[in-house]
Amino acid sequence: MKSSVLVHGDLLYAATPQKLSLHPDSWMHLKAGKVEGIYAEKPEVDACEIRDYGKQMILPVFADIHIHSVQYGQRGLGMNLELLPWLSNYTFKEEARFEDLEYGKKVFPLLLNELWSLGSLNLCTFSSMHLESSLMLMDMYEEAGFRAYVGKVNMDCCDEPRLKEECDISYADTREWLERSKQYKNVKPIITPRFAPSCTAPLLKHLGQLVQEYDLPVQTHLNENKGEISWVQELFPESKSYYDVYRSYNLNPKGKTVLAHCIHNSEAELEAMLEDEVFVAHCPASNVNLSSGIMHLREMLDAGFNIGLGSDIGAGDRLFMGTAAVDAIRASKLYSLQSEGKVEPVNYIEAFYLATAGGGSFFGDCGSFAPGSTADYLVVDDKCWPASDRIGLDERLQQFLYLGGAEQISERCMRGEVIEKPFPDIC
Ligand SMILES: [Zn+2]
Repeated sequence: MKSSVLVHGDLLYAATPQKLSLHPDSWMHLKAGKVEGIYAEKPEVDACEIRDYGKQMILPVFADIHIHSVQYGQRGLGMNLELLPWLSNYTFKEEARFEDLEYGKKVFPLLLNELWSLGSLNLCTFSSMHLESSLMLMDMYEEAGFRAYVGKVNMDCCDEPRLKEECDISYADTREWLERSKQYKNVKPIITPRFAPSCTAPLLKHLGQLVQEYDLPVQTHLNENKGEISWVQELFPESKSYYDVYRSYNLNPKGKTVLAHCIHNSEAELEAMLEDEVFVAHCPASNVNLSSGIMHLREMLDAGFNIGLGSDIGAGDRLFMGTAAVDAIRASKLYSLQSEGKVEPVNYIEAFYLATAGGGSFFGDCGSFAPGSTADYLVVDDKCWPASDRIGLDERLQQFLYLGGAEQISERCMRGEVIEKPFPDIC
């Protein structure tokens, strides 16, 4: 592959929540895996590869910053339950299966194929507590060309005996996993206490020490469900709040912490989270499926939080981030109605931003075509939709978010290179 590439098509991206940058019939110059610039006329570039996508749309790849790779097989099950019984009745039983590597060999290729087909190529994902299975998942993401943070889950408190680690073993396995993860280039480890109630204080302390020693990011859950919050108060009576539990064990590295859900936050928690520059993973489908609540997206966006979207498979049901963006808009409209119009709903530009650059910025300069961004893009062919040849590029994006999916995505590119279906011999 030549290191310089010229990409032609109808280009668009949102580097901020407020602005959709539209470049119909334009050229994007990629150099050494980065975006150099976008030009209305074909620029003069020596020795470059030309990729002409005609009238197809070209947009940044999606970022899914909260997804449980090991829950892919249980999607759609137990949706009549709330969080805690759902975990006990479905999730823990499913995750226990990953002790057997053969089960991961069956599930993970199907998941990777679907993520690839839908263009979710920047991932922040939970594995299970199993060391070997987590490494196998990392091998597959690396081999397939994704950019991913993968977390071996830590949990030394659990009502499912097959998923309960001993504290010392959890710590030793995590160290070994961190050492063996050093071989990867585009896939990185992320410290992953499942959530505060699944970890004892000594384990949280060990994990906080590893964060500092290895300079690692953290992902976990926060303020998803009211029963969960009361349970945290019982388990950690000395903590001022749920978020304070993570903070007091140094599980809040600045600008490097992803917290999923964040629905029922106190004012003091919001202040502390803003100070720590946390990334909020908004999971609108999951929040409704498990009757958890509606996150205050508008207020948090306006307050300056870093926010991205999470499919939260398997409490969420769909992997397509266009659907997650639409779910975020719908949840925000319900919240706006509830507020009797006092709170504005988010619009499709804001939701598109969250699904691309909002979540993508957790990985560096990702999810945008601003100069210097990593050269990651999706090509979308919408010519089979009857209005596509008469509506504007901004409207074509709206249709893609609401109606689109794998069928419309004709090519995927990461770091300037086209990436192929990870496991072509299976569905
Ligand atoms: Zn989750």
